[in-house]
Amino acid sequence: MNAKEIVARCEHLFEDLDFGAVKDWKAAAPGRKAIGYMPIYVPREIVHAAGMLPVGIFGGGDQMEVIQGDAYYQSYICRIPRSTLELGLTGRLNVLDGMLFPSTCDVIRNLSGMWQILFKDKYVKYFDVPQDYADSIGGSFYIHEMQALREDLGNLVGKPISDQDVKQSIAVYNDNRKAVRELYAYRALKPWQAPTSEVYLVLRAGCVLPPEEHTVLIRQYLNETEKQKRPQRDNARVILTGSFCEQPPLGLIKSIEMAGCYIVEDDFMLAMRWLLDDVPVTADPLQELSKAFLHRSASTASKYDVKKEDKGQFLLQQVKRNGAEGVIFAAPSFCDPALLERPMLQDVLAKHKVPHTAFKYAENTGQMAPIREQAGTFADSIKLWSAA
Ligand code: SF4
Repeated sequence: MNAKEIVARCEHLFEDLDFGAVKDWKAAAPGRKAIGYMPIYVPREIVHAAGMLPVGIFGGGDQMEVIQGDAYYQSYICRIPRSTLELGLTGRLNVLDGMLFPSTCDVIRNLSGMWQILFKDKYVKYFDVPQDYADSIGGSFYIHEMQALREDLGNLVGKPISDQDVKQSIAVYNDNRKAVRELYAYRALKPWQAPTSEVYLVLRAGCVLPPEEHTVLIRQYLNETEKQKRPQRDNARVILTGSFCEQPPLGLIKSIEMAGCYIVEDDFMLAMRWLLDDVPVTADPLQELSKAFLHRSASTASKYDVKKEDKGQFLLQQVKRNGAEGVIFAAPSFCDPALLERPMLQDVLAKHKVPHTAFKYAENTGQMAPIREQAGTFADSIKLWSAA
C-alpha cells in the first residue's frame, strides 16, 4: 500500500462506528474478547496480557446523531459521554466484553456508574490512577489497582495472567510507543510530509487494531510518505493542546492546517504516548508500569502537578523541543479539566513570550469557517510579528 492507501484504510477504520475491525479480530479465533477503554490512559498491557484486544472508545464523532444519549446527561456538557452512551444503547458496542473508565474527570466516572446499570452483562471497571507520585503511596495504590484488573480479566478469560504474560505485552507496547514516537518525530521534522490530518488517522487506527499490527502500519506509513515528496510551505509551527479526551472533528484539524499552521505536537489519544520511554521488562512488571506512570509519563490537565511551579513546564518543553512558534488551546466545550487548566498554562506561555490563541469545539462541530479564520489570523500574526 502507498501512503494514500494506508491513510484511506485508517480513515475507513475511523469512520466505522460498528467496529468491524474488532468484530473481525474476535471472529478470527474462538473465545477472543475485547475490552473498551475511555480516554485518557489505562495500562493496555494488562488487557493485552489476558489475550484480549484493548479498544479505544473516543465517542461518536461527527457522523452520529445523539438521541438516546441526551436523556442521560445535561445537554450543555461535553458531547463524548452522550455519544458514547449512544454507541452503547444502539448496540454498536455489543462487540465489547467490558469497558474501563479511567479517572479522567467526574463525567467519565459517572459514565462508569451508568454503564454498570445499563449493561449488567458486561465487565465494567472504574480504573483509578494515582495523583500522588511517591512509590510507597501512589505507587502501592496503583499496583493494587492494576493487580485487581489483572485478576478480574484473568477470571473473565478463565486463566490467570502471569508476570511473563505482562512482560511480553509490555515489550509489544514498548515497540508500539517507539513507533508512535518515530511518527511524531518525523512529523515535527517534516510536517509537510506527514500532515496531522493523516498522522491523526494513523494514530487513531491503533484504537481498534492489535498493537503489533498498528506498529507495522505506522512504520509502513512513515516509509511510504517519505517516498512521496510534497511541497513545503511557510506555515507557522504550532502545538495543539487540550484535545486529550473528546476529539476534534477531522475537519477541524484539516481547517487548522489549511489556515497556514503545521501542527508539530498535540495531545490526541494520549494513551498511546502516555509513558514517555520504554518500560523495563526485566523486573516485576506491575512495579515497572507503576514507576513509568509515576515518574516518566506525560503531563495533562487530569494529572495532578505536585508543585505550582511545575504547571505548564511540560508544555513549555514541548514548545522548545519541537521548535513551535505558537500554541493553540483547542478543548471541548465544557471540558472542566482542560478549561480550568488553560489560564494557568496561558500565564506560563505569556511569561515566556510564546504566542497562543484558544477556542472550543465539540466532536460534531460543523462550522469550520470561524476556526479557520482564527487559526489563519494566528498563523499570520506569528509570521508577521513573532520573528526575532
Ligand atoms: S471532554 Fe473533558 S469533561 Fe468531557 S469527559 Fe472528557 S475530560 Fe471529562
